[in-house]
Amino acid sequence: MNKFLILNSLFLFSQIPNPEPKFLNLKNQLEKFGFQVVIELPPKRGAYALLREADRKIWINPVVFELHIGTQTIIHEAVHAAQVCAGKGKIKPLGLDIQPSNYARPFFLRYADVHRQDLEKEAYAVQTQSNSFELAVFLLQKYCK
Ligand SMILES: [Zn+2]
Repeated sequence: MNKFLILNSLFLFSQIPNPEPKFLNLKNQLEKFGFQVVIELPPKRGAYALLREADRKIWINPVVFELHIGTQTIIHEAVHAAQVCAGKGKIKPLGLDIQPSNYARPFFLRYADVHRQDLEKEAYAVQTQSNSFELAVFLLQKYCK
């Protein structure tokens, strides 16, 4: 990584209003398990975040910090990361025995692809639990170790 890139990412990071300890904790854990986490506009327009399986790269849209959903967003992506680990690189559902709330249904049903719906359903199920952070950490450690 060249000096400019390092300075640039430090700059972006310093722009995060009140970086939340849980966000930073999950970011560190993801990096420990070989995922690269960047605070940049994802290549998919309008997305809050994106995980690219091929090189384990995770984009977090800087807007999530302004919306105060930074921790929620990285929890959601951490579930996808655990799904990548579980499938040994080919993303697959973990088969968790929890359901997302009815309010979360439109968020995963909008995906046309049924496989994608299963992946998203699981991410939203974890994200909407009261212990979502602990659950995401547990799943990362279970599947990515
Ligand atoms: Zn998702």
